[in-house]
Amino acid sequence: MSQMTQKTVQFHELELDQRILKAVAQLGWQQPTLIQSTAIPLLLEGKDVVVRARTGSGKTATYALPLIQKILNSKLNASEQYVSAVVLAPTKELCRQSRKVIEQLVESCGKVVRVADIADSSNDTVTQRHALSESPDIVVATPANLLAYAEAGSVVDLKHVETLVVDEADLVFAYGYEKDFKRLIKHLPPIYQAVLVSATLTDDVVRMKGLCLNNPVTLKLEEPELVPQDQLSHQRILAEENDKPAILYALLKLRLIRGKSIIFVNSIDRCYKVRLFLEQFGIRACVLNSELPANIRIHTISQFNKGTYDIIIASDEHHMEKPGGKSATNRKSPRSGDMESSASRGIDFQCVNNVINFDFPRDVTSYIHRAGRTARGNNKGSVLSFVSMKESKVNDSVEKKLCDSFAAQEGEQIIKNYQFKMEEVESFRYRAQDCWRAATRVAVHDTRIREIKIEILNCEKLKAFFEENKRDLQALRHDKPLRAIKVQSHLSDMPEYIVPKALKRVVGTSSSPVGASEAKQPRQSAAKAAFERQVNDPLMASQVDFGKRRPAHRRKKKAL
Ligand code: AMP
Repeated sequence: MSQMTQKTVQFHELELDQRILKAVAQLGWQQPTLIQSTAIPLLLEGKDVVVRARTGSGKTATYALPLIQKILNSKLNASEQYVSAVVLAPTKELCRQSRKVIEQLVESCGKVVRVADIADSSNDTVTQRHALSESPDIVVATPANLLAYAEAGSVVDLKHVETLVVDEADLVFAYGYEKDFKRLIKHLPPIYQAVLVSATLTDDVVRMKGLCLNNPVTLKLEEPELVPQDQLSHQRILAEENDKPAILYALLKLRLIRGKSIIFVNSIDRCYKVRLFLEQFGIRACVLNSELPANIRIHTISQFNKGTYDIIIASDEHHMEKPGGKSATNRKSPRSGDMESSASRGIDFQCVNNVINFDFPRDVTSYIHRAGRTARGNNKGSVLSFVSMKESKVNDSVEKKLCDSFAAQEGEQIIKNYQFKMEEVESFRYRAQDCWRAATRVAVHDTRIREIKIEILNCEKLKAFFEENKRDLQALRHDKPLRAIKVQSHLSDMPEYIVPKALKRVVGTSSSPVGASEAKQPRQSAAKAAFERQVNDPLMASQVDFGKRRPAHRRKKKAL
């Protein structure tokens, strides 16, 4: 955890059960985060609380720890088993994340505290019904999921619920769950403790607060929306639509971007266009498409987190998720202001080094959400944005917001210009544009359909098999070439003549191509090693100036 850690309060001072403390210690959490140390005592007192907290701040444990404590307390006196807490979240992924954290925290309680995630689509309705019929202590669900069961009669009894948590509360109504939510809370008893956790305190959150909270405490901790600049750098490249592919190709192929990256674009079609484009150069990436089955998305993210892939392409487009249970009401479309992807918002991407805005985000909020995917915990990160003339207005708003947040001096720029000369990319332009054009609308459309088919097949047919063969599940990759465009093998290699002069000085001159397959190409390893020596920034080699002569001390280093 980053600056959120407070030295003064320790977990053992929070009056939590030994079993909970043991689980916390097993997770390696040294101290509560700021949000945890502030909110947990209030929640243990039984107060209704609205917490403004972003993903990455330790928000899940903030509500989960007191929730578990409360259940352990009630179990001392009650012999009956009943659903004592409901945790609502707007998507299956978020439900799953919550459930996982809760499961980790009850690990040392034996089977005393049970949790069921009924949004989990890997379970069929029969399994979900069965889980509910056993009255788990904690039910995690989307509002529509739980409402469907609550209205189905005897499946679940919510009359003993003592705590209601709404996670990512600002998204719940935005994703169209308002009617479901209103109907669902009618199934709860008249008195219960309620907790709303939200990244932003929007009007929706205020309305929700009016519906289910009683005299609440609102915690707006001075948690910076953005991590400090020494941890997260912001850079931009002024690039028109025609320039973007060549620049991306050059940056990736020359390894000027290193580590794990999320490339953000503004639509699902663009995701596939970029993927097909990169595929032609032998650069593998997977698309996080909210149209794909939830299991597949979760699997993709967990593989990305484990390092199976280096590049994920994601969009802000929101596709309405169809919950496992039947929605009791017709949900409205999400508002355009809340378009940040259901596929990425709130999901715990781990160790992302770079966020690349291939398309500049549509608004400041989206920029901040995207930026929040990197520089988690104490890690460093970079945001590199491609900005066209059309996008420059939003870029200016983002710049202003960043300047305000970081109290920038007059004339100071937070989003720095990436040191880079457009003419140095000219040599990449020809092949890049060819490949960009080859990713036609038809190819994109076909790929999108093909991938959905493949992944649904993966999801449905192989589900049972993979349950028993976990190793094979790891071998299932989501970045396999989609082959919608004939891939010309020579494009995977980068001939030396297109490497900018400034970089040639680093890699030396040779007629052998600088290619993708490093093992077979010692030249590439030499180049890579040279970059690594040259560049101080561990994440993005932004100091490598395509155009300028390298400073004397750098030239000396090369001679070594
Ligand atoms: P969240 O904000 O709930 O998405 O949590 C973000 C990450 O922080 C998760 O990977 C948690 O496991 C981790 N985390 C939560 N609380 C702590 C803590 N007190 N110390 C260290 N890591 C934590």
